[in-house]
Amino acid sequence: MRSLRFDNAFVRDLPGDPEQGSRQRQVAGALYSAVEPTPVAAPQVVAWSQEMADALGLSEGDIRSPEFAQVFGGNALLEGMQPYAANYGGHQFGVWADQLGDGRAISLGEVIDRAGGRWELQLKGAGRTPYSRGADGRAVLRSSVREFLCSEAMHHLGVPTTRALSLVTTGDVVVRDMFYDGHPQQEPGAIVCRVAPSFIRFGNFELPAARGDTALLRRLANFTIARDFPELKGEGEPLYAEWFAQVCERTAVMVAHWMRVGFVHGVMNTDNMSILGLTIDYGPYGWIDNFDPDWTPNTTDAGRRRYRFGQQPNVAWWNLSRLAMALAPLFTGTEALQAGLDRYAAVYAEADRTTIAGKLGLSECTDDDVTLMSTLYTLLTDADVDMTLFFRALSDIDVQQPALTPLHDAFYDEAKRQAFEPAFQSWLASYASRVSSDALSAEQRRARMHAANPRYVLRNYLAQEAIDRATQGDYAGIHELLEVMRRPYDDQPGRERYAQKRPEWAVHKAGCSMLSCSS
Ligand code: AMP
Ligand code: MG
Repeated sequence: MRSLRFDNAFVRDLPGDPEQGSRQRQVAGALYSAVEPTPVAAPQVVAWSQEMADALGLSEGDIRSPEFAQVFGGNALLEGMQPYAANYGGHQFGVWADQLGDGRAISLGEVIDRAGGRWELQLKGAGRTPYSRGADGRAVLRSSVREFLCSEAMHHLGVPTTRALSLVTTGDVVVRDMFYDGHPQQEPGAIVCRVAPSFIRFGNFELPAARGDTALLRRLANFTIARDFPELKGEGEPLYAEWFAQVCERTAVMVAHWMRVGFVHGVMNTDNMSILGLTIDYGPYGWIDNFDPDWTPNTTDAGRRRYRFGQQPNVAWWNLSRLAMALAPLFTGTEALQAGLDRYAAVYAEADRTTIAGKLGLSECTDDDVTLMSTLYTLLTDADVDMTLFFRALSDIDVQQPALTPLHDAFYDEAKRQAFEPAFQSWLASYASRVSSDALSAEQRRARMHAANPRYVLRNYLAQEAIDRATQGDYAGIHELLEVMRRPYDDQPGRERYAQKRPEWAVHKAGCSMLSCSS
């Protein structure tokens, strides 16, 4: 672990807050505040990601050393670490919220791996920072398990995401009112070490822009481009334009992946949007069981359902338009920013077609295929059908004699299945005829579908089962889930129980379909 090599560009190259420590404050003219993690009682590593450890060059011996638990529990620093909390703002639920910042995330430093890649290490739940706004800076075990597992599950699904190295229990209790209804409870505390090339968010640019600090905004933009987008060349406005278009493209690709796998972020505020187009800040996220574009797991958003599944592509566009407004002072006109937003729409439409071709197993996606897919989405919604099970089993259809039988298991409601059977039969007939005219062989089609339609996703109830066990001190459920989610597109004999539809008991259980921002 001593071999980790740090190159802390963010704190070295950008202006910091002259004040140290966690006194709550507004921080002007600076992009971060130096602050150390607050020690915890008894840090214990309960799970870690093999792939992430490998990438960082950490051995199993490193992870199991007492020093690792101390460092990744926030009780010690390694040489070369320079902890800080970033200063950013954001639009929360459509409203400008002004300064937010890392209220409980503390970055430790930027590791350069053997291949030259950059990985910022960040502890979530490591204690108060200047941006904690009266809260405790801590995270509870349940939300930490969710962030840890989902970061790695998304990575293995091929969805751009921040990563997770370790999950450490703190030995301290944290008090939370899970549904903000006057029932605070003591819960075990935990800390996730999350990892990404950069944790810069749209909100990092929005804050200096909102304060009229164009010099600081420009500095951050120049820094971000140089460090995180080294492939972009040129200077001045054309470079900024190129960069904004890149951010738009990456965001489009990320959201298209969410829609493909059935992921609902739950809190797409602009402070939760990564400039690298990575899925970031796993809070009250959820996975689609029965296909429902109106579904959101987030009870805090239950009234308006601003961040519901089907709304995500539009919200991402809206968020990018907030970023465009923030970057406007760097441009003389608005054309380049508008072009970036148009790029988002074009790339999203293209990525959506890639999704359709993949999910249906077609060599290409024509306009008719877009219609075929939207007809199917409507049927899946109306008939209460499991998204993951349906698409996975669709590759088992006999296109010579298409029948619904292999798909029966994907239905949640037997009466609805019977009622919608003729409609599905007719859809299957169109699908079968489309497939027969397609260039792909049956084998190629199946392979393509299996690569686009995961067999295993981190269903909300599966994560909750692992959380319930972890709360009793049994972490094996987390390890098993992590193991299954490492190969989500492979059939894993003996692990069928992880590929089943949501059980009835999970429909109204807290944590399974209802989550809040309390974490
Ligand atoms: P989120 O909804 O998790 O993205 O959080 C929004 C803002 O609240 C961010 O600035 C977080 O850092 C901050 N925040 C959330 N929970 C806590 C906490 N327990 N202590 C301090 N700050 C928090
Ligand atoms: Mg956040």
